[in-house]
Amino acid sequence: MAAPGLRLGAERLFAMPGVLELLSRSNSTSQAFAEVLRLPKQQMRKLLYPLQEVERFLAPDRRQDLHLRIFDPSPEDIARADNVFTATKGNRIDCVSSAVRIDHAPDLPRPEVCFIGRSNVGKSSLIKALFSLAPEVEVRVSKKPGHTKKMNFFKVGKHFTVVDMPGYGYRAPEDFVDMVETYLKERRNLKRTFLLVDSVVGIQKTDNIAIEMCEEFALPYVIVLTKIDKSSKGHLLKQVLQIQKFVNTKTQGCFPQLFPVSSVTFSGIHLLRSFIASVTGNLD
Ligand code: GDP
Repeated sequence: MAAPGLRLGAERLFAMPGVLELLSRSNSTSQAFAEVLRLPKQQMRKLLYPLQEVERFLAPDRRQDLHLRIFDPSPEDIARADNVFTATKGNRIDCVSSAVRIDHAPDLPRPEVCFIGRSNVGKSSLIKALFSLAPEVEVRVSKKPGHTKKMNFFKVGKHFTVVDMPGYGYRAPEDFVDMVETYLKERRNLKRTFLLVDSVVGIQKTDNIAIEMCEEFALPYVIVLTKIDKSSKGHLLKQVLQIQKFVNTKTQGCFPQLFPVSSVTFSGIHLLRSFIASVTGNLD
């Protein structure tokens, strides 16, 4: 994570136009991020910091309910994280293995993060968006009922592994809980679990099963709110406040800051990449 002195993420980016200019001219900034830096300010804020963007619509006394800036990377850190997610000759990104059982899971020494969520929550779309800087990566979707669902392991250079877990819900295979439960319980190098919740409908019964699992195994996990482009600002704020209250009062292991994303508009994708890079030790 950024050094405390650098933690003024959004403010720093918007208060100092020089930062934008320097970054967009720097050779180490990916082309994709340089393009983001050329967007009009408001569009850029919405894309990079979706929660801070909706904060403007909250009454000042409600703002302290939301933990908006616990993870607030500097623009330089966002650019570094984008580089980690960019496929190059020296930074290969690909799906290295699929497994139906934990004892078939590859033995990968690097830090790992995994994504779990109900079927249809937007998990494949989100993983595709995260890997949009590695267009060769194929995110497999197997949704037909009866198809065996697998855990897919994506190696991101020498940095970390991203694991796409099968979706739960009415189409989940019967042994789903066993597979996910065993993975979550036994995977030693698992650094963070990203639990996806559909921002349109909020936390559902089946999401609670996953939340209880994470709590029971004392795993550090994060709630990612998907499909934020589908709701009005008012509805999104209502859901965000409700889920934040749930996180504050009912969870122990959940990271207090929510991560809203849209795989359609790409809002929040850069911030999520930065968080993944940070929890796997790649922004130190
Ligand atoms: P999965 O079953 O969790 O892998 O879900 P998918 O990624 O396949 O998404 C399920 C449906 O939601 C598909 O029709 C997607 O096009 C749609 N979807 C996924 N993410 C988003 C998003 O961010 N915004 C919108 N509007 N639709 C989305």
